[in-house]
Amino acid sequence: MSRSSFTHDVIIIGQGLAGVVLFETLTERGLRVMVFDAPLEGRASVVAAGMVNPLVFRRTLLSWRASEMLAIAGAFYRDLQLQYEASLWHPLPLIELFPTAQEAGIWQLRMKDPEMERFLGLGTSTDQAIQVMPQPYGHGEVKRCAWLDVRAMLAIHRDRALASGSLAERKVEEADIVRSSDGVEIHGRSAPLLVYCAGPFSTGAGMVPVRGEGLTVRIPGLDLGSMLHRGVFVIPIGNDLYRVGSTFAWDNVWGGATAEARRWLLQQLERSIPRPVEVVDHWVGVRPASRDRRPILGRIGPHEAVFNGLGSRGVLLAPWSAQHLADHLLTGAPLDPEVDPARFSA
Ligand SMILES: Cc1cc2nc3c(=O)[nH]c(=O)nc-3n(C[C@H](O)[C@H](O)[C@H](O)COP(=O)(O)OP(=O)(O)OC[C@H]3O[C@@H](n4cnc5c(N)ncnc54)[C@H](O)[C@@H]3O)c2cc1C
Repeated sequence: MSRSSFTHDVIIIGQGLAGVVLFETLTERGLRVMVFDAPLEGRASVVAAGMVNPLVFRRTLLSWRASEMLAIAGAFYRDLQLQYEASLWHPLPLIELFPTAQEAGIWQLRMKDPEMERFLGLGTSTDQAIQVMPQPYGHGEVKRCAWLDVRAMLAIHRDRALASGSLAERKVEEADIVRSSDGVEIHGRSAPLLVYCAGPFSTGAGMVPVRGEGLTVRIPGLDLGSMLHRGVFVIPIGNDLYRVGSTFAWDNVWGGATAEARRWLLQQLERSIPRPVEVVDHWVGVRPASRDRRPILGRIGPHEAVFNGLGSRGVLLAPWSAQHLADHLLTGAPLDPEVDPARFSA
């Protein structure tokens, strides 16, 4: 079948972070893209705090391919905000208040690593709000961090895609997908390729969904100009509002928000910011994590592919992942075995 006999080049299921970043990546390459999305309870991107940070705090080590991912993510989101004419990408340093002398020592050790030294600083923050915080063991600074206004990005994409007829707000059931020898058809739209960006709702092999909860709080007068980590992350989003999160829960994943998580988040917050706090919002979602914490990208059928497994670092991983998947699907570039869905079916 020729290109003109299909209504589109690619159909995507899911308009979360994965779906939007892939949509824009493919459109930029001149493809006609159609998205189907239904706002399912527990979806991840609408609650993502949006933080981009190359450090795994638990181990004080860089995350998977952090340097490469950061460069691609920064360029992608900067370009997108120009295209959308909106302020989405907010570079901010991330400050770690060391909980123990040992943590401070590990940090100093890591700063001697040539790969890590350009990301780490020690006691360098000039942020007034940080300087007055209790920090008996000092603080470290993670450079090259940012937060992305994911909700705004999704909302703008939704409006634009609805206006151009490239988004249909409806759920796709398995029975809605009509497969033929040269492509797929869904609700009257056809394409030679279908990509599942279904996030935590995927039933594919290797997925380990993880519930996360967080709060939006108002703290008048704090005037924090950096992101902060001490047990939880605190992200200033303007107008005295801060996002505080997140929890990780592997049981009762679809159970919704809990009073226990709210209590825990506020307790953690009070350790570094002992001030009156007004809770404005309590959010909960399910992270689409994979068993080995790598994305899941590639073909899963002759005319079907998957883009998933963004886990807790979706903002950082999505632009690289979309590029890698597009190169593989469109130009036949080899798929990195670390992201190949086949690794879970062996
Ligand atoms: C509490 C919390 C905080 C987080 N904070 C951060 C952070 O600070 N930084 C960061 O990088 N990441 C963060 N994350 C992770 C981030 O949210 C995810 O990595 C990312 O949003 C995953 O995007 P996705 O598009 O794969 O999934 P989703 O956002 O869940 O999108 C999937 C979409 O597909 C739709 N869908 C699924 N099946 C169908 C179907 N059959 N038909 C139609 N539509 C369908 C869903 O309704 C949804 O809209 C956080 C996650 C949580 C839960």
